[in-house]
Amino acid sequence: MPTEATFILAGLFIVAAGLGWLFARYSVRNHGEPPPPPVNADYLRGLNFVLNRQTDDALELFMRMAKVDDDTLETHFALGHLFRRRGEVERAIRVHQNLLARPNLNESQRHQALFSLAQDYLGAGLFDRAEKLFSELRGSPTLGQAALENLVDIYERESDWTKAIEAHRELEVMTGEKSSQVAHYYCELAERARLSGNLDLARQYLKSSVRSETGAFRGTLIRAAIAQEEEDFAQALRLYEQVLETDQRLMVEVLPQLVACYEATNRQQELERYLERLIAKGDDVKKNLAFAVIINGLTAPPIFRDCVEAFILQHDVIATLIDTVHFSELPQANREQAILRITRGLRQLALSSARYRCTSCGYSTQRLIWHCPSCKAWETIRPIQAFQFERLVA
Ligand SMILES: [Zn+2]
Repeated sequence: MPTEATFILAGLFIVAAGLGWLFARYSVRNHGEPPPPPVNADYLRGLNFVLNRQTDDALELFMRMAKVDDDTLETHFALGHLFRRRGEVERAIRVHQNLLARPNLNESQRHQALFSLAQDYLGAGLFDRAEKLFSELRGSPTLGQAALENLVDIYERESDWTKAIEAHRELEVMTGEKSSQVAHYYCELAERARLSGNLDLARQYLKSSVRSETGAFRGTLIRAAIAQEEEDFAQALRLYEQVLETDQRLMVEVLPQLVACYEATNRQQELERYLERLIAKGDDVKKNLAFAVIINGLTAPPIFRDCVEAFILQHDVIATLIDTVHFSELPQANREQAILRITRGLRQLALSSARYRCTSCGYSTQRLIWHCPSCKAWETIRPIQAFQFERLVA
């Protein structure tokens, strides 16, 4: 139902329109020109309906006013906008449909009414209707860009990546700016084709994903998965290692695949040598590796256990929970058992907490996703890489 503020604002529109008429009338008289027609009584009746909170009666009146008075057009747009903002989408739709029924709208006014109606449909969740109207406005000199931006939003919601690419291409021509989003759309199509078993089609889409740095990065991951599926393990390893050398934040995702590829080719010792080379590049590598080992419950090769042990002994909280001196003096077999127990506990803790968070809006999730469902940003979701101990006492 309309709120009091709706009525007050609607009243203000009518009063403003009435004052405009009076001002015009007064100005004209002072210049000795013929007086305009008498004041439209509908303004006063409309104000009365609004003040008495008779919204539907007021609406009917506004619609009749629009048929006779061009000056009320902006009042209608403002009122429709207000209804939509208040969640009264059906009323907003009626206002804008009524405007569109006027035969004497010029092109700009018609486009504005179409755009407003499309926004109403969007607000009501009627995406197919909104899409149809925004599509009509693609070529509008004033609203073409905004219409295309809304179309991109609709196609993203519907995961219609082919149409999203088309709309974005048009936007790029219009604005002269290249967007990295399109590369992600191609990655989405490639991933879909890969999952349906059409690897050739997936490869075709991936050719277009290299148009941006982020798309190329994600594309490399999909290429690696395709190579692994085709049992081209040498190629898969080359691509997975390329991902880790570019950005280690995906260690949690990549490490199990790396282990599987080395095991499939019976080259476990080479895996250890590769990881040793990686660790030698920086302190963070060991921590990222330990985290990936714990989350994925990996036990071999022995370098994994060494990384986890170092992680446990250096961790601010975990190290205080165990007697590190006693722990270090334990026989090898007992120490390994203790590490396994702690690893299992940490894994359970990590899997029951959010593991990824959007750097843009704070949305958190358990799995890696590239498109934030909350703020709609692309590639803003990052691994948290920390154990949330507060959950132990929650
Ligand atoms: Zn977000």
